[in-house]
Amino acid sequence: MSLMGSYKLKCPECGKYLDDLHQLKCGIHNGLLRAEYDAVRMNIKDTEGVFKFFDWLPVASVIETKAAPVVFMNEQMNRELGLKDLWIAFTGYYPERKAFALSCSFKEMEALPTMARMRDAKRGTIVVASAGNTGRAFAHTSNASGIGSLIVVPERSADRIWVPEDNGCAKLVTVKGDYADAIALSERISSSEGFVPEGGARNIARRDGMGTVMLESAITMKKIPDHYFQAVGSGTGAIAAWETSMRLIGDGRFGTGLPELHLSQNEPFAPMKDAWSGGRRNLTEEDTENAEKRISDVYADVLTNRKPPYSIAGGVFDAMTACGGVMYGITSEEAKDAEKFWMEHEHAVPDPAASVALASLMRAVKENRIKKNGIVLLNMTGGGQNLIPKGCMNRLSVSVALDPNMPDEELMRAIHE
Ligand SMILES: *Cc1c(COP(=O)(O)O)cnc(C)c1O
Ligand SMILES: [Zn+2]
Repeated sequence: MSLMGSYKLKCPECGKYLDDLHQLKCGIHNGLLRAEYDAVRMNIKDTEGVFKFFDWLPVASVIETKAAPVVFMNEQMNRELGLKDLWIAFTGYYPERKAFALSCSFKEMEALPTMARMRDAKRGTIVVASAGNTGRAFAHTSNASGIGSLIVVPERSADRIWVPEDNGCAKLVTVKGDYADAIALSERISSSEGFVPEGGARNIARRDGMGTVMLESAITMKKIPDHYFQAVGSGTGAIAAWETSMRLIGDGRFGTGLPELHLSQNEPFAPMKDAWSGGRRNLTEEDTENAEKRISDVYADVLTNRKPPYSIAGGVFDAMTACGGVMYGITSEEAKDAEKFWMEHEHAVPDPAASVALASLMRAVKENRIKKNGIVLLNMTGGGQNLIPKGCMNRLSVSVALDPNMPDEELMRAIHE
C-alpha cells in the first residue's frame, strides 16, 4: 500500500523543528520530541487494524494487522459501579469483542508503528530490551511483518516471549542477570554498526501508537473523556493520552478539555505515585530504594520501571500538571479483587496491570473522585491470554545466550552468528 504520511518533529522546550525525523533529542534540550502531523483532523483509513490511524502515526508504510484497541461499554458493570458513562478500552486478544492483538497487551500498538517506521528508515535492525510484554509485542510484530529484530531479555524472562509462529525474524537474546543487565547489553549492541535502539518513550512511534487507544475512544464516545484511568510503569501511555488529547482538541470535533489523568501503580513499588504525592518533579533515591525486594512483592511487574520518563520535559510530571489528576498506589490484593469483579462480567482474563487500573477506578468511585455524569475511560491495557487458540503460544527459541561481562569483540561475534 502506498500512503505518504507527513509530519514534523518538534522540541517541546525550544519549539524548534528538527531536520532529521529519526532524532531522539533536540541538539540542546533533553525533552521528549513530538510529532506534529500535517493532518489537523483525524481521518480514518478504510483498513483493519491500528494503521487506520495512519495520518496520525509517524510512518510512511504499514504492516498488515487486525490488531487495534477496541472500546465498549458493559452496562451491568456500570450499574454495579454506579457509573453511567464508563467506557472500556481493551487491547489484547478478545475475539468476542473484536480485539485481535495476539501478544495480549497495548505494547503491540507501540510495536506496530515502531517496526514500520524502523523499516522506513532503513538504518538497521531494531534492538529491544524487555522483561515481558514489550519483548513479546515486538517479537510478534517482527515475525508477522518479516522485519528483523533482536529481543534482549534476562534469562529468567525468556518464557514470556512466545509467538504464534517462530519463523526466525525475531531473534531472542538472553542475558545472564536481571533486567538492568539486559538493558545495558542491549545498549552495547544497539550502539554498534547495523543495529538501532528502539528508543523507548523517546520514540514518537511508540507514544503515538499508544495514543490510538484515545483515538479509538474518541470515535466511539464522540468526545475526549473527562477522566482517563490507566496503570503506569514508564508512564509512556499516559504521556500519549495527553498528547493525543491535544491533537483531538485541535481537530475541533471532540471537545476542548484535556482529560483528567487517573494513573495507578502497584504497591509496594510506586515511585511515580510517591513523587507526585510528595509534590516533587524529581524521583528521589527513596522512591526506588530496596527496589528488588519491593518489586518481588507486586502483582503487576510490568509496572515496576525504575527509570520512568517522569521528570523530563514533556514527561509524566508535565502531563499530570497539564491535565490535572490523581495517582493511586494500589495493593496487589485490591488488584486481585478487581480482577475477580472483571471476570464476573467479561471473559478475557486481564493482565495484572489492567486489574490495577480497574482497582484504581473502584477506589476513585468509593472516594468520590470522579464527576457523577462525567465520561470515564478505563484503559484495560492487556489481557486475553486465556483465549489464545491452541498452538499459538510457542516459545521463541534462544538465538544466543550472553554474559553481561563479555568483551565487545566476543559480543559482536556472538550476535552476528
Ligand atoms: C507496559 C504496560 C503498562 C504500563 O504502560 P507504560 O506506558 O509503561 O506506563 C500497563 N499495562 C500493560 C499490560 C503493559 O504491558
Ligand atoms: Zn530544543
